[in-house]
Amino acid sequence: MNEIKAPKGTRDIFAPEIHKWHYLENAIHAYYKKFLYQEIRTPIFEHSELFSRGIGSETEVVQKEMYTFTDKSDRSLTLRPENTASVVRAAIENNLFENLVPLRFYYLGPMFRYDKPQKGRYRQFQQFGVEVFADDSPQVDAEVIFSAVDFLKKLEIESVQLDLNSVGCPQCRPAYLEVLKKAARAEESKLCADCRRKIDGNPLRIFDCKQPACAEAAGRFPVIGDHLCAECREHFVAVREALSWMNVPFVLNPRLVRGLDYYTKTAFEVTSGQLGAQNALLGGGRYNNLIKELGGPDMAGIGFAAGMERIILHLEHLELPGRKILFVAYGDPQWLAHAVQLAEVLREEGYPVYLDYQGKNLKKQFKKADRVAAAFTLLLAEDEIRSSSVSVKNMATQEQIKIPLKDLNAWLKENF
Ligand SMILES: [Zn+2]
Ligand SMILES: [Zn+2]
Repeated sequence: MNEIKAPKGTRDIFAPEIHKWHYLENAIHAYYKKFLYQEIRTPIFEHSELFSRGIGSETEVVQKEMYTFTDKSDRSLTLRPENTASVVRAAIENNLFENLVPLRFYYLGPMFRYDKPQKGRYRQFQQFGVEVFADDSPQVDAEVIFSAVDFLKKLEIESVQLDLNSVGCPQCRPAYLEVLKKAARAEESKLCADCRRKIDGNPLRIFDCKQPACAEAAGRFPVIGDHLCAECREHFVAVREALSWMNVPFVLNPRLVRGLDYYTKTAFEVTSGQLGAQNALLGGGRYNNLIKELGGPDMAGIGFAAGMERIILHLEHLELPGRKILFVAYGDPQWLAHAVQLAEVLREEGYPVYLDYQGKNLKKQFKKADRVAAAFTLLLAEDEIRSSSVSVKNMATQEQIKIPLKDLNAWLKENF
């Protein structure tokens, strides 16, 4: 029979890397609670329509990258390619807009995209992100951005760069798009086939094209920053001012776009140069028309999503605390019951304890204690049982002492 392997673009995570995941997940929970964000967990799959409306049917994600399937009742369902649309759907469906204050969420979990797998990019990948609803203040934009940058800093990820832009709003963007289309048409022959198709439908997305010729042409296109309405301009000025209060440096990037109608005003991206080429860690922006688009109230929203695999790659330096283990050994199978009970008492006290039920003799048990890298082996044999004590062997120094059982916990607190 052929060996069954994990599907392309997926991976197994286990020790020691899993310790980094626990570290990162714990850090996310602890950090975002300080800002009164509440965790939200939405289903892994949703009705496909949520994503075609919530991400945009014109996007590459929806057109090429979704894992869509029909269930046994003929419903079209999709494994979530991102989580913002789901969080908005959940808030509408559960009436959270009326019942929850403040409307600030964070999430973490797997997302799915049929993408070309490469280092740090998988078809099942983990994201964490935040969404803030019902607040259009520019200072909230700055706070969301600050939290993203500050969180990465707390993880000691270096060479972080924040790119910032405003993508305008339904008042100012249509006029800009006309100017942009005109400029793109003038250079149409230099653009790739994909970008030529984007000119009429969604010319902003030409800025996302990685083809050198397209990027070069796009470098000459007019930018949205020169066409913002007064409201968008003032909002953007205030965002930058608030970022300066928070000591968050940024790079103005007039070609950073979110190519969909419901993205409004602030757009940002954080990259790291730590692993050589600039590597996108997270991206986000304001989406003041998305909630209405998905059938909710006319309400502002802003958020970001971060790639956790990319962040894990940046945690090479992380020194995880060594896992200290106690090994309970028994001199003869007749003392196994005592050993089991000692292990139980120690675990109650919070110690990680290993007991080898297969240990035929002490020599084999000590070998196992070495293999699990136990710090101390606690030995129970006839002598110890009779005197209600335990022999404690330091596995590094090989020193051994006998301690009365009643003093063991106090001794371990001092020495373990
Ligand atoms: Zn505007
Ligand atoms: Zn192109």
